[in-house]
Amino acid sequence: MQSIANEIYSQVTQKNPGEAEFHQAVHEVLHSLEHVVDAYPEFRYHKILDRMVEPERIITFRVPWVDDAEELQINRGFRVEMSSALGPYKGGLRFHASVNQSIMKFLAFEQVFKNSLTGLSLGGGKGGSDFNPKGKSDLEVMRFCQSFMTELYRHIGENTDIPAGDIGVGGREIGFMFGQYKRIKNQFTGVLTGKGLEWGGSNIRPEATGYGLIYFSQNMLETRSDTLEGKNCLISGSGNVALYTAEKLLELGAKVLTFSDSNGFIHDPYGIDREKLDFIMQLKNIRRGRIAEYIEKYKHAHYYPVEFSRDYNPLWAIPADCAFPCATQNEINEKDAQNLLANGVLLVAEGANMPTTEEGVNLFIDKGILYGPAKATNAGGVAVSGLEMSQNSARLLWTRSKVDSELKNIMKRIHGLCLESSERYSTKGNYVDGANIAGFVRVAEAMIDQGYV
Ligand code: GLU
Repeated sequence: MQSIANEIYSQVTQKNPGEAEFHQAVHEVLHSLEHVVDAYPEFRYHKILDRMVEPERIITFRVPWVDDAEELQINRGFRVEMSSALGPYKGGLRFHASVNQSIMKFLAFEQVFKNSLTGLSLGGGKGGSDFNPKGKSDLEVMRFCQSFMTELYRHIGENTDIPAGDIGVGGREIGFMFGQYKRIKNQFTGVLTGKGLEWGGSNIRPEATGYGLIYFSQNMLETRSDTLEGKNCLISGSGNVALYTAEKLLELGAKVLTFSDSNGFIHDPYGIDREKLDFIMQLKNIRRGRIAEYIEKYKHAHYYPVEFSRDYNPLWAIPADCAFPCATQNEINEKDAQNLLANGVLLVAEGANMPTTEEGVNLFIDKGILYGPAKATNAGGVAVSGLEMSQNSARLLWTRSKVDSELKNIMKRIHGLCLESSERYSTKGNYVDGANIAGFVRVAEAMIDQGYV
C-alpha cells in the first residue's frame, strides 16, 4: 500500500482497537484507492479518506424487553450513521447474536459505497442489535421491536435516516417497528423500507437483492459470451437473498444444489427445483423452521451439520460452476476459495456483505475468475429500497414489471461503472477495484462540494 493509504489504515487500527471486521472492510477499500489518490490530489488535500473512515454519528442504546417467562432481558441497540454526502443515511438493521460495534461499522462503511453505486440519492448507515430472534415467539419479537424503536425513532425520519431489513429483520420485524414509529410520531411516512405492499411497500423489494445478484452475474458472464443456463450453482444461506437468488437461477435454467442456515447445510445432487424451493420458502418464511427439515421430505438429499472445528466449509467443496455466498461475513476463507477453484468454479458473486476473506478475494482475482464483490452485486436490495422511497414520496405503487426493469437497469449500470473504473485505474474486470473506486469518487466529489463537514 502507498503511504497515504498505509497512514490512514494504521490510524484506523489504532483508533478502533479490536474492530477486526471494520479494519478488514477499510483495508480492502484503501487498497483499491491506491489507484486513484494519485490521480486526484484534491482528495488528499480535502482529507476525504480521513473523513470517510470516521462515522458522522454512532448511536448506542439500551433495549429492555420482557420475555414470555416474564423475565426482563437487556440487549444493545446500534445505529451507525456513516455518511450523508449523497442523501439521507440508508441501510438495514441486523438482529443477530454476533452484532457488535465492529460489525455495525463495517456494514455501514460498505453501505456508503454500495449506495453510491446505485446512482440514487442515498447516504450510508447500518444498525441493529445483538438480539437473537431465533426461537423467540411472535410476541417476544414484537415487544423487542417496540422497545428498540422507542429509542431509535428520535434519530430517524424519511428525510434523515431510513432503516430497512438485514439478517434477522424481515417483513414481520419491519411491520412491528413501523407500527411503533407511527404510534409515537403520529405520522405515516416512508421511514422504513421493506414495508408490506398494502402499507407503503414496493413490489419486488423482497426479491430485489437475489434478483439483482443474478442480473449482475448475467452481465459478468456476458463479457465472456456465457450464460447461466445449465450451470451448477452453490448457494449458502436460506433467507430472502438466498431464496430469490435461487428463484431467478431456476428461471434462467441453472441448477441449484445447496442452501444453509447457522446449524448446517443441505445438498440435493438432483437439484432443488421449483417445487422443492416452494417447500423451503414455506419452511423458512412461514413455519420459521430449520433447513435440516428438508431431508425429512426429500430423503435422497444430504444434510451436513456445521462443525466449528473444521478449517473449511464442505459446502464450498462441492463441485460447481458458480457460487453465491448469501449467508454472512467471512463465510468463504482461503481454503474454501482454494476448494472452489480446484473444482473449476468460474463465477463467484456475493449476496451477503463481505462474505469472502481478503485472502479468498485475492485468490479469486489472481486466478482471473469472474468475481463480483458484494458492494456491487448485492446493491439491488438497497436500490429497490431507494425506489420504495420514491414511491412513498409520490404516494404511488409501481407495477412489478416497472420495478423489475428499473432494477435490471440499475444493476447493468453498476456493472458498467465497475468495468469502466477498473479499466481506467486498475485492471479491466477487477470488479473489486472497480466497485470501490466508482463508489468512492461519487461520494468524494459530493464531500468536496459540501465543504468541511
Ligand atoms: N440490508 C441490505 C443491504 O445490505 C438492504 C439495505 C436497505 O434496503 O436499506 O444492502
